[in-house]
Amino acid sequence: MTIGIIGAGISGLTLAYELQRRGIGYYIWEASTQPGGYIRSQRDAGSDHQQTYLRELGPNSLLGDADLLLWLDELGLTPQLTFSKPVSKDRYIFRDSHYRRLPSGPPSLLFGSFFSWKTKLAILQERSNKTISPPGETLAQFFRRRFTTEIVDYALAPFVAGIYAGDPERLLVSETFPVLLRYERDYGSVLRGLIKNQSTAGRRQSFSFRDGMQTLPNALAAQLTHLSLNDPVEYIGRVGTNSWLVKSATGTQTVDRLVLAVGTDAAARLVSHTDLSERYAPLAEALRRVEYPSMTVVHSAYKRADVQHPLNGFGGLNPRQEGRFAAGHIWSSSIFDGRCPDDEVLFTTFVGGAGGAETNARKPDNIVFGHIHQELAHAFGIRAIEPVFRAIYRWERAIPQYNEHIVAVKDQVELVETDNLFVCANWYGGLSLSDCIGKARSFAGKLSPIP
Ligand SMILES: Cc1cc2nc3c(=O)[nH]c(=O)nc-3n(C[C@H](O)[C@H](O)[C@H](O)COP(=O)(O)OP(=O)(O)OC[C@H]3O[C@@H](n4cnc5c(N)ncnc54)[C@H](O)[C@@H]3O)c2cc1C
Repeated sequence: MTIGIIGAGISGLTLAYELQRRGIGYYIWEASTQPGGYIRSQRDAGSDHQQTYLRELGPNSLLGDADLLLWLDELGLTPQLTFSKPVSKDRYIFRDSHYRRLPSGPPSLLFGSFFSWKTKLAILQERSNKTISPPGETLAQFFRRRFTTEIVDYALAPFVAGIYAGDPERLLVSETFPVLLRYERDYGSVLRGLIKNQSTAGRRQSFSFRDGMQTLPNALAAQLTHLSLNDPVEYIGRVGTNSWLVKSATGTQTVDRLVLAVGTDAAARLVSHTDLSERYAPLAEALRRVEYPSMTVVHSAYKRADVQHPLNGFGGLNPRQEGRFAAGHIWSSSIFDGRCPDDEVLFTTFVGGAGGAETNARKPDNIVFGHIHQELAHAFGIRAIEPVFRAIYRWERAIPQYNEHIVAVKDQVELVETDNLFVCANWYGGLSLSDCIGKARSFAGKLSPIP
């Protein structure tokens, strides 16, 4: 059996690596000259030309459990790991003109001043809320029904913007956090479900690699014997009833099963050009409807001595109600060592996302830089008139939105699996890196368990 995999982002690379370990034949094609898809780490020289900045243009960290760490160990990556510093534990939310620490547990939630009494009361009464989620409920509807609008605006929405670049008024609870529905169904309460499952949920840690996230795709790619970089797939077609023909820039292969590990735009193009384009028209149509908001990522470094704020935390998120230009900032040098010269601090700022914020992401560089410096200077007491280093990167299509269009895609994907056409990508069944790795590993396991 030979499996064809189109796309060498983390999903395709993990799948290829797992197939190779199991002795299953595969080919993997990647359009770009480098593996990793959204994972891109970049080094830039510092002003003294001795120390460097390490910037993540895409994902900044992985959230993983012991099983994932074991898998990385098998890949030989344990010496490269760098765990987030204890000081970066706290998350901050912009409210009333400054960043305030988001309550992290019941005492600070109930006795702190972040939330109003109305919200505290709703939290206390959530266990007696007997309502059940109707089909198609959005995240915002779910949290409003069980808690308050304040929780939606000042906890859920910024958090969802941070993970999904998404709008909680559109994202479906069933597609993003199905565990909440389970808690509601099985325990009659989200809080009760959280408490009951606290001990069973494996402890997850946030980490990266000394040379950045790119280490992971590079390590996987280095193991693969059948990876073809700089080789976009241009056409796929059926051979008989069971096999697939794949034409790439460099040649043609026949495979028994074909896996799409590309974004929905590329997947739509490929399936609409098959010899069975009519059969795949509904899938292509559903794929074209999936939304990916734009996101602009800006890195800014300042001399530590010029920044008054201690930056003891992971970063700050900006609720839409606060009218800020950016969606939020990660305090990169507080999370991991070696991100900038020792006497500086590095911020990673995200601009854009769903729900009207995209226009900011598309503004010219100088406008984006100006707004970000102003917001950073005001929020963190920065005395410098500009950063000592800054750089910008734009994702035109950043993150697939798990809204009603994803449900339509899922139905269509299930239909074509009978043709030996499969999907292993971040728009299908989970978006985070650990989700993508987990899905690819279990998919390979289903094809052939290791004896
Ligand atoms: C700004 C940003 C920050 C993020 N932060 C985090 C984070 O901190 N933690 C986290 O867990 N997740 C994060 N994510 C999400 C995560 O990075 C992605 O969900 C994940 O990397 C997607 O991997 P993938 O392999 O499914 O897809 P992709 O990375 O999109 O890979 C698809 C690959 O297919 C290739 N391709 C396309 N067309 C063809 C073709 N015709 N032929 C051959 N190859 C083709 C592409 O070049 C690409 O390499 C972030 C995403 C973004 C954009």
